[in-house]
Amino acid sequence: MLLAQVAIPIPLERAFTYAVPDQYAPRIAPGMRCLCKFRRRLVVGVIIAVEQAQAPAGIKLIALEELIDDIPSVPEELLQFLLRLSSYYLAPIGEVLRLALPVLEHQRADRLRTKLPLFAEPPRAVERSVLVAYPVASTPQTPALRGAPASVLTHLRTVGPTAIVRLAEEYANARSAVKRLESLGLVTVRREAQKEAPFFHDTKARESAPVPTESQKTAIEHIEKALLAGIPRSFLLHGVTGSGKTEVYLRAIEACLRAERGALVLVPEIALTPQLIARFRSRFGDGVAVIHSGLSRRARYQMWKSLRENKVSVAIGARSAIFAPVPRLGLVIVDEEHDGSFKQEEGVRYQGRDMALLRAHLAGAVCVLGSATPSLESEGLVQQGKLTRLRLPDRATRAALPAVELVDLRRTGSLPSTHSMLSLPLYRAIETALAAGEQAIVFLNRRGFAPSIQCEGCGTILQCPTCSVSTTLHRAGGARLRCHYCDYEAAMPSACAACGCPRLAMVGIGTERLEEVLALAFPQARVARLDRDVAPGIRSEAVIERMRRKEADILVGTQMVTKGHDLPDVTVVGVINADVALSMPDFRASERTFQLLVQVAGRAGRAERPGRVLIQTRIPEHPVLAHAVTHDVASFTKTELVNRKEAGYPPYYRLVLVRLDGPDLDEVIREAERLASHARVQTQVLSHGVEVLGPSPAPIEKLRGRFRFRILLRAVQRPALRAVVAAIQQVREHRSSRVRVVLDVDPMHML
Ligand code: ADP
Ligand code: ZN
Repeated sequence: MLLAQVAIPIPLERAFTYAVPDQYAPRIAPGMRCLCKFRRRLVVGVIIAVEQAQAPAGIKLIALEELIDDIPSVPEELLQFLLRLSSYYLAPIGEVLRLALPVLEHQRADRLRTKLPLFAEPPRAVERSVLVAYPVASTPQTPALRGAPASVLTHLRTVGPTAIVRLAEEYANARSAVKRLESLGLVTVRREAQKEAPFFHDTKARESAPVPTESQKTAIEHIEKALLAGIPRSFLLHGVTGSGKTEVYLRAIEACLRAERGALVLVPEIALTPQLIARFRSRFGDGVAVIHSGLSRRARYQMWKSLRENKVSVAIGARSAIFAPVPRLGLVIVDEEHDGSFKQEEGVRYQGRDMALLRAHLAGAVCVLGSATPSLESEGLVQQGKLTRLRLPDRATRAALPAVELVDLRRTGSLPSTHSMLSLPLYRAIETALAAGEQAIVFLNRRGFAPSIQCEGCGTILQCPTCSVSTTLHRAGGARLRCHYCDYEAAMPSACAACGCPRLAMVGIGTERLEEVLALAFPQARVARLDRDVAPGIRSEAVIERMRRKEADILVGTQMVTKGHDLPDVTVVGVINADVALSMPDFRASERTFQLLVQVAGRAGRAERPGRVLIQTRIPEHPVLAHAVTHDVASFTKTELVNRKEAGYPPYYRLVLVRLDGPDLDEVIREAERLASHARVQTQVLSHGVEVLGPSPAPIEKLRGRFRFRILLRAVQRPALRAVVAAIQQVREHRSSRVRVVLDVDPMHML
């Protein structure tokens, strides 16, 4: 009989077998959605395999209730990728599918049951519609055209379908040109719902592409060659900050579209990269689907649909865009590939960058990872010959990289009228820049007013009641203490709860206070702040825009200010304290700090005027700082790779972190020890070369009232490691319910 393996979008479950009713046998295929009974409920599942097999003896199989799709919702290429992802991360396929597919979201089975059109849509909201011109795919001969019709046709063929209003902004007589092309059968016009694009609906004139520099040209040629030859090669586009990596991406995508294949672009945080998105929009118009968390469910679904139906063939978005059903995938790009945001830290813990390589490989596509400070994982792949490095050694605008100086806080004072963390050299540098009508960025990795509060009487540091971390003082909206790891918030007490002493001292400085310090130090300057407190999501764009329009002179902020902003008038960048990041209890602390410093430094002096970067520290002799001063990525990489090899860390060793947490400390420890000893036995039985380290308490021992332990598994070879992890997963099934066990494959942080 015909059997179907069906993935049910419910966590903790694997695929289930159903019998296929005869009526569906002719058309059933993997990737189609179906309705099936599951635990007495009717659910939507995805068929992942269909096979002719003997019915298992003694068990009565349930039959599928209904086959929803006529063509697979999930294209074959994407389905294969999801299956591989599920097996790589040991994550249930049902959970992976749920994460990946907006077509599954909240689609209640009862609604589907009554009306089952292909891609059953959520109810329509009232929406504006526009006329969109589509190029007709293949016309044997194109009549000789001149003027507007010729330009419009070229536009449509390279950029893809475009709204007529947008064409009219760009080409004189666009409307009559479209009519003419339509009458010639070269173009079709359809009325369509206007795509929801809360971010970037400005329709600036199409950007004219700059002439590529020599190194850009070489990089583009390599990528294009692989694309045209259909060789699934992967590249590391290693270009200094401001070297014009975006232009290489854009041209690679153009080449990809010419080869009639689709492209996928991953960026770290879409709200922080409005410029990049705007450039994609201006080059590709409506031919690009921008996927971001601000989209409504309906808009997300529309994106999926237009990609799936082949109306759009370029998708750009943050991490989860890796699941976009880009048609005939030919190119996958990851911008700022070193960025930590590509790792999903809850649910299915996948690394978007690694999955970009995997998806490209499976699809026979070309992959391009771009960065000024490549991750050591990528450097490792270059060493193994799996990634080809393409260098962009100079800034595209011919601007020099900024001069980086260390300010030794042990030796350098500050003005008596300002805060001690605003050193005199940094003060002077900002003063000079402001006097010249230039701007400054000041980076500090702590939000809030004061990172912690300490009682001067007994030394107690005020802590979150449910997490083992100190609470941060925030001033906005009254003095409040907040935990940055949970929702805890309370009024700042007037005295220490432990000893009654009223003297509670602020320890350290956060961005909120720094903003105040700078405003006082430079009363004539307008200070803007960018961190998660002022700029959740979309509004960060507005802060950057204020800087660009020169409505602000100094920008203060956390990592958000280090991302790829291109602000030509910023000539001074200050780093308030490099030591915090360096001292994190994590083997990636050096790598992260180096990347952060080089990236933030890269914001300075991007146009004509030279930039200056001042890094404040109490450990100026630290080798990471020395490499940052000289922008020496190669030396840093070389040194750090040696450290990693000696200490047994990636990219030379593979890690799986088993994270355990629960409300009862003893219970967590018992379970951790049970799993660790099981892992040790398995190591002896199954394979050599797997080390089991721990259990040990996590650096943050308690979070939201749950105690946290972890076991680190480490090996050079992945198969050996997988065998042991699979064994742990087996015994985990019988775990005591209050202790949660999470497998973090290739963990990005140890907290
Ligand atoms: P990156 O992403 O490598 O930091 P960008 O792509 O933001 O760099 O480019 C930096 C600046 O250089 C941008 O203002 C861009 O317009 C400009 N640029 C890029 N390529 C060229 C080129 N070939 N000629 C002139 N300017 C260029
Ligand atoms: Zn807390």
